[in-house]
Amino acid sequence: MKLVVLGGGESGVGTAILGKKKGYDVFVSDFGIIKENYKEVLTINKITWEEQQHTESLILDADVVMKSPGIPEKAPIVKKLLALNIPVISEIEFAFPFTNAKTIGITGSNGKTTTTLLTYHLLKQGGLNVGLAGNIGKSFAWQVAENNHDVYVLELSSFQLDGIVNYRPDIAVITNLSPDHLDRYAYDYNLYIASKFRITKNQIETDYLITDHDDVEINKWFQKNKTNAKIFTFSIQQELEEGEYIEDKNFKSNINNDLFTMPMNELALEGKHNLKNAMAATAVAQLMKVRKQTIRESLSNFQGAEHRLEKVLKIQNVQYINDSKATNVNATFFALDSMNTPTVWIVGGVDKGNDYDELMSLVREKVKGIVCLGVDNEKLFKTFNGVVDVMIETTSMSEAVKIAQKMAEKGDSVLLSPCCASFDLFENYEDRGRQFKNAVHNL
Ligand code: ADP
Repeated sequence: MKLVVLGGGESGVGTAILGKKKGYDVFVSDFGIIKENYKEVLTINKITWEEQQHTESLILDADVVMKSPGIPEKAPIVKKLLALNIPVISEIEFAFPFTNAKTIGITGSNGKTTTTLLTYHLLKQGGLNVGLAGNIGKSFAWQVAENNHDVYVLELSSFQLDGIVNYRPDIAVITNLSPDHLDRYAYDYNLYIASKFRITKNQIETDYLITDHDDVEINKWFQKNKTNAKIFTFSIQQELEEGEYIEDKNFKSNINNDLFTMPMNELALEGKHNLKNAMAATAVAQLMKVRKQTIRESLSNFQGAEHRLEKVLKIQNVQYINDSKATNVNATFFALDSMNTPTVWIVGGVDKGNDYDELMSLVREKVKGIVCLGVDNEKLFKTFNGVVDVMIETTSMSEAVKIAQKMAEKGDSVLLSPCCASFDLFENYEDRGRQFKNAVHNL
């Protein structure tokens, strides 16, 4: 059997190693440049590879193709493979049959990484032999090749889910749904939603789906569709008989008649959105039989992920917060919502078709000044000019931070929560977040 791997990144190299171990004839092809350390690994494992090209004669004779999530369906080589009816699958799909480990698949528009890391933390503290994979860290396929875990917590993007056929998580989580990446879904929101729900399509009665009770789009989906899995939902708007909700100042989780309670102010992560993430992770931990005391301790000592409402420094009593990962309106909505001081907001970048009106009431209530940091800030000015006291634009992060410092007074916060992708001025959101942190440290 010939396995062709398109894309020589983390998931591609992991798949190649697993495929080789399982006896496939493996070829890796990357249209860009493969990182040196990956080339070494491929060569050591006697796997042939090419870069800066896709040699069709070496690709179109594949029995199965693993496409890295970054390569769009409309890439010419993918179109050719599909026309020849050659199966094009994702790394998760390829690796799944080769492990008996339980998997917890986590998807959604926002909160995937936070929920995945938190779930991993709860299970690890609970003493399980658990691996972390998907969009994070060492690829799932690579870890399966090394055969080293009983349970995996997988962060799954819609692109990874597009490439599944038989993958079936024991526990699936859909954190929430809001428009994102529509450019990859022919600007059809329904296609994007369908892709997220693929996570549950193969689930059976003994599996679980954990999802947001308050999410309009998720509820709409359930009016027309079904899952075989047992569903538990979480809500911050109403008390539920089963599932997770708020009562007084406590967060309660009733999973299979097992009630977990914790005061909300003991949660390490702040903000309503993070309460929802904690609810999702707790449900998983309960289903995986982690002790309640361990869940409670782990929820209160969890260190949040970098670039997600990350507190950087307090300078002259002004708190600087890095939320560079907020690349869509919904993420920024929750960032602004969680601010409890007057805020100077640094926003802007590549707009993915944003509707900023959703932020209007929060901006009126909390934002005193806006620094626009992007190549094209026209839409931001149109929406918010006159709504806040000051609005200034710049294309330099250090300038943006200096301007924000001038606007802020004692007791205020400066929040970088861009609502946008970063590719106009930065390499990626991590680069943007690091530049922000450096600029703050240089003040
Ligand atoms: P993802 O992996 O889905 O992009 P992250 O955990 O990296 O999610 O968070 C992305 C952004 O969304 C951050 O700005 C974060 O503060 C915000 N966020 C985190 N959880 C949620 C949630 N449940 N709902 C909305 N926004 C969230």
